[in-house]
Amino acid sequence: MFSFDSIKKYHAFLANDPNGCTIAVTHYLSQINKNKGLNAFINVYVEEAMQQAAVLDAKRTTGNSLKKLHGVIIAIKDVICYKDHEVTAASNILKGFRSVYNSTAVQRLLDEDAIIIGACNCDEFAMGSSSENSCYGPVLNALDETKVPGGSSGGSAVAVQAGMCMISLGSDTGGSVRQPADFCGVVGIKPTYGRISRYGLIAYASSFDQIGIFGNCIDDIEIALQVISGPDEFDSTAIQELPKSFSSTENSTKKYRIAYFKEAIEHPSLDKEISSSIGSLLNKLRSDGHQVEAVEFDLLDYVVPAYYMLTTAEASSNLSRFDGVRFGHRTKGPVADLTEFYKRTRSEGFGKEVQKRILLGTFVLSSGYYDAYYSKAQKVRRLLTNKIGDIFKDHDVIVLPTSPTTAFPLGEKMDDPIAMYLADIYTVFANLTGVPAISVPLFKHSNGLPFGLQAITNKQDEVTLLQFSQLLMQQYKTYQHLKKNE
Ligand code: GLN
Repeated sequence: MFSFDSIKKYHAFLANDPNGCTIAVTHYLSQINKNKGLNAFINVYVEEAMQQAAVLDAKRTTGNSLKKLHGVIIAIKDVICYKDHEVTAASNILKGFRSVYNSTAVQRLLDEDAIIIGACNCDEFAMGSSSENSCYGPVLNALDETKVPGGSSGGSAVAVQAGMCMISLGSDTGGSVRQPADFCGVVGIKPTYGRISRYGLIAYASSFDQIGIFGNCIDDIEIALQVISGPDEFDSTAIQELPKSFSSTENSTKKYRIAYFKEAIEHPSLDKEISSSIGSLLNKLRSDGHQVEAVEFDLLDYVVPAYYMLTTAEASSNLSRFDGVRFGHRTKGPVADLTEFYKRTRSEGFGKEVQKRILLGTFVLSSGYYDAYYSKAQKVRRLLTNKIGDIFKDHDVIVLPTSPTTAFPLGEKMDDPIAMYLADIYTVFANLTGVPAISVPLFKHSNGLPFGLQAITNKQDEVTLLQFSQLLMQQYKTYQHLKKNE
């Protein structure tokens, strides 16, 4: 029976098995098939993946050294363009649309001989925190199918959680990689804004959007990040400089200067057990010689409102391209004029949550309200960026919960959008300020579900982020593996 632990061990296995990639793809396809009910995949590229595996198995006989992602089986969120494959953002408005080019991230994966096994379900246009806003129906959490997997990249998280791929890509505009990673018990990273090119990522809120990676271990995240990061002539916001390597090899003697926000750990919305687990972890880190310090943070209650003002404003502009004229769904109904054509097409094509956000975004940008809402939210964003800059003058890392609760029941928050939005309290901060952040699966709740710790470092300092995460995984993880019914 094939089993996967890490890319490194998989490559060692391939060295001794001439049919290794084929064996691996066969295994993952059967896992996907077995777990169909979780609804994590929208499309599975069965024949293609098998063909690619055969090509790679043959390639190894030439004796050349393996490329970095040789035969690594990867799933991508359905907002990331893969040439000649359907990409829909889980929306009726894009059903049947095939991408005409590769996103830079996908191109770089393919250039390193990765095998893309399928496209993952998610919230429509990445708007949501539970993967329930999808035109394909909700994704289920593999550890407890009555619970959500988190969102919006829920399918990508479950694909790793339930062993349906080795690593996966998601997108994170306000927590959509970290929060599902937290709910599913896997690692999820959102790199610095601009670290990974957004070319070919369907836009939600362009000044926040960032591709992120799910995996089982930090080493795999490091390899994938190394491959897909870097400048790109197709994305002018992509960061020009790259570290020599993203080495996560932990310097075991390093003592970190760790900041935490008392306001966050003591926030009334935070589950008591999550709060106390993080508290004990901080005590342990302190007694192990790290400097752990509470930093005052009085802006916490402004982050969610600012995030939803700014992202909906950007979304209202970004989503205006879906007009039924150039691509995607087009209304069949009789229409009197062009305005009615647009109205009908968009009302039929977009789901409720997306419509709500377009309306909200249009409102906050409208004259008369712009200064009261949009400009004010921009000012909050500036204050947060200044604040985080100050904190990183004296600290290496900030730790926070990833989410106030563990995975919640399906349907629980669907009628209460404010509750759904407020649950993004700990993750949106990193997107508003552009810094890299990760959710590391360290804990198990007495309700049986996993939860993670969120770590954040300064802009462009993924190296410290990965090294600190490695330390947490190796020395502070409180359980080993969480499988269904354990
Ligand atoms: N839950 C947040 C939202 O609904 C984050 C989404 C995301 O990161 N794509 O906007």
